[in-house]
Amino acid sequence: MHEFSIAVSIVEIAESEARKAKASTVTELDLDIGTLSGIEFYALETALEMAIKKTMLEKAQVRINKVQATARCQDCGSEFDISSSFDPCPKCEGLYHDILSGKELKVRSLVVE
Ligand SMILES: [Zn+2]
Repeated sequence: MHEFSIAVSIVEIAESEARKAKASTVTELDLDIGTLSGIEFYALETALEMAIKKTMLEKAQVRINKVQATARCQDCGSEFDISSSFDPCPKCEGLYHDILSGKELKVRSLVVE
């Protein structure tokens, strides 16, 4: 139920933002979730459906943007997509790289009323 606690904190963040804007409803919610964040997209979607019940987000349209993980090779400097942090560089097969994206877990934007 890892995803459920994440869903609950996403709802809390969105609600506090909505309150700051003196809104009563969140109508749209955009999330950025990286493919290396360790989150199951389907599980998060299901968890969010439950977590938004009886909150300001109950009628919100929730969009989850999958952020493809990318890395830059420390040896040859090329940038490439990775599916795990152990993927070698496709050009020089170097094993060391810096992760550029893919660990995101954040609220990108929300629309309130
Ligand atoms: Zn390389």
